[in-house]
Amino acid sequence: MTDEDDTETNEEPTLPPTEAFRLLSDGTRLQTLQGLVELTDAQGHRSEPVSFSDLHAQVETRDSAHFNYHLQELRDQFVEQTDDGYRARYPARKVVRAIRAGTFTERAGLADEPIDGSCPQCGDADLRVSYVDEKLHVRCGACETGLTSNDFPPGGFEERSLADVLHAFDRLVRHRVSFAADGVCPECTAKMDGHVTTDIPPEWGYEALPAFDCVRCDFSVLPSFGMLLLDHPDVVSFHRNQGDDLREPPFWELALCVSDRFTSIESRDPWRVTVLVPGGDEELVASIHGTDVVDVRVA
Ligand SMILES: [Zn+2]
Ligand SMILES: [Zn+2]
Repeated sequence: MTDEDDTETNEEPTLPPTEAFRLLSDGTRLQTLQGLVELTDAQGHRSEPVSFSDLHAQVETRDSAHFNYHLQELRDQFVEQTDDGYRARYPARKVVRAIRAGTFTERAGLADEPIDGSCPQCGDADLRVSYVDEKLHVRCGACETGLTSNDFPPGGFEERSLADVLHAFDRLVRHRVSFAADGVCPECTAKMDGHVTTDIPPEWGYEALPAFDCVRCDFSVLPSFGMLLLDHPDVVSFHRNQGDDLREPPFWELALCVSDRFTSIESRDPWRVTVLVPGGDEELVASIHGTDVVDVRVA
């Protein structure tokens, strides 16, 4: 049986990654997976198995024996064979989505493009964006503060203007932080553990930051303490009363998200942080224990 912390699943023995990628290292097989997922997607929510002949018609191959050989190689791990035909298994859908997203193949680049908005540190309207190594970086050209630097897949540039890319990046990072703070890895859905880290590049200018690490795929999310408050209803309504909509500006224009201005460290062992945001005649005080927001008050 299982213990409380560890749920056992009826997993078959895991295929080594090298074997899984070897199975995919063939054009006919990739076309077969793409064809299978395409035909399944075209059915909407019905998801009937796809017949051998329909699938074969999607793939350029010299004869049906050659096609069948490759299809059989994909069985079990990527393709399920039923009495009525073939279905794409979860790994096949993931592979095809990664191909469509350009995750393995596309390169995009941007070098210090000026963008709209103003710096929450110095107030100047001299924000710049660059895209290097599949990360989007936003910095202020006036005070040289790096405002954010986060993973963004190259497929995110497809059919979008730069303004739309930045909007998508803003939403992606906010959702990633929400997922991580809720303990769900935004990359692989496994558990994420939160802790406070002081292992931070000095040029970022933070003494400590909340850090969330995936127990399975090692994906990590490193927001600011202020970012943990963005979805809190009392924080949202406090800002609304001040005439500010927290959802409207991109997060890199919010001092709450990209600076330590409102944050004070109360204790290091255990970690206790207070975020105090001044308003007109009231102020918002949030208490964070470790990476958990335990209390939000408006006084
Ligand atoms: Zn600045
Ligand atoms: Zn993960």
